[in-house]
Amino acid sequence: MTATKKKNVKTSSTTELNPRTTRYEFLGPIGAFLFVTVLPLLVLFLAICCNKTGYPSSFLIDDYRAYFSQLFNRDYLKTLYDPMAMMVYLAFVLLQALLYIALPADLYPGTELRNGQRLKYRLNGFTAYHATLFLGLYFLKDTGLKPLLFVYDHFVGLAVSSILFSYIVALYVYIGSFTPGTLLALGGNTGNALYDYMIGRELNPRIGDFDIKFFTELRPGMIGWQVINLCFAAKQYLDLGYITNSMILVQAFQAWYIVDSVWNEEAVLTTMDITTDGFGFMLAFGLYTWVPMNYTLQARYLVDNPRDLSWMEMGIIVGLNFLGYFIFRSANSQKNEFRSNPNSPAVKDLKYITTSKGSKLIISSWWGLARHINYLGDWLMALSWCLPCGFGSIVPYFYPIYFAILLLHRERRDDHKCRTKYGKDWEKYCSIVKYRIIPGIY
Ligand code: NDP
Repeated sequence: MTATKKKNVKTSSTTELNPRTTRYEFLGPIGAFLFVTVLPLLVLFLAICCNKTGYPSSFLIDDYRAYFSQLFNRDYLKTLYDPMAMMVYLAFVLLQALLYIALPADLYPGTELRNGQRLKYRLNGFTAYHATLFLGLYFLKDTGLKPLLFVYDHFVGLAVSSILFSYIVALYVYIGSFTPGTLLALGGNTGNALYDYMIGRELNPRIGDFDIKFFTELRPGMIGWQVINLCFAAKQYLDLGYITNSMILVQAFQAWYIVDSVWNEEAVLTTMDITTDGFGFMLAFGLYTWVPMNYTLQARYLVDNPRDLSWMEMGIIVGLNFLGYFIFRSANSQKNEFRSNPNSPAVKDLKYITTSKGSKLIISSWWGLARHINYLGDWLMALSWCLPCGFGSIVPYFYPIYFAILLLHRERRDDHKCRTKYGKDWEKYCSIVKYRIIPGIY
């Protein structure tokens, strides 16, 4: 499970390389406890209680009483134990692992680690995405769409399976992180078992060359999200005999986002998830459970509450989505290009400051508008995914509400990281690029 050793790895002592973490995030062990208990329950609540019988319309507690009482209904509780769903979930993750290993891949170097090592990553997410869809079509050619109803009918069982899987994978990497010589995440070595288990202790857990964190980043989450969405579209088609234009928008927007992520897979290598955070329950649960089970809420809602949009509604929603995508993709690509190929014509004229660490921080174009302008684009897209669902319930808006909190918090975490890393240079950068996320406002 430890990272493969390469020639020029620095041989510092273990404590020098892996200093004790002295600062807690996410409210420390209490937050870790809430994270590993409350968030899985929230996923189960959304899976069990939001269905054909109704969706809460607001955040008012009265709205939820009836739904909570369903949680204790024996018929609902029975759906939690679903061995068939467990097998299907495991088969899906196994398929993704096989595709990751077996499909041709570009070997791409990651950023340099504290020990001087540069891990190589197998980039074949785009091929794996298409291979998954192709295998699905091949499987369905004799059966028609009916087998896809399994996902809607066994959604609770699939959610439970993904949660259990997240606990187990996180435990596996936590135990493996005690192997001597392992490079730990700077934020995951507090010595508090629950906190380190949640936040992630080991930086790059691997089984041989199989990078568990990188694999998990896009395959079970993003491809799983796509597969579940398509199953919901099939369910709507089989229920109504057609697919509503609201469902088409949700499918198209989210498929675009997913394809874009797997197409630009190398961009993941410079994100905090890969370069800074350890792999623990937070990432495992986020990617095995949270993304595929919660990001599919809009499509699930539209199965239960089909609706048709006017041309004007469609125009506004599509416009918002394109605006968000344009900001998100241009900003992220600009930074990636600037960092990996600074002399390319697209970025060579950007203004920047050079830090004493040697890294350069862009201060013009997208990155001169706000320090995380990419977050704004991402959030606008998230909002556009929910609008096709109308305003009958708060539940489809769960994603942009949670995502806003995540991005606000993530920006603060990144700010702390950069302030610690760049010191006065970061202060200078902040005095030039004043806004955090929304130019002129925040
Ligand atoms: P960023 O891509 O913004 O990366 C931040 C890092 O970039 C900093 O730590 C710093 O790293 C470097 N950097 C910061 N400012 C500059 C600059 N001006 N010029 C050059 N480099 C700079 O953040 P994330 O990794 O958080 O997010 C990546 C994308 O993923 C975003 O678009 C975000 O919206 C999306 N995302 C989506 C999630 C979802 O659930 N859908 C969850 C989280 C993120 P260094 O140390 O190298 O200088």
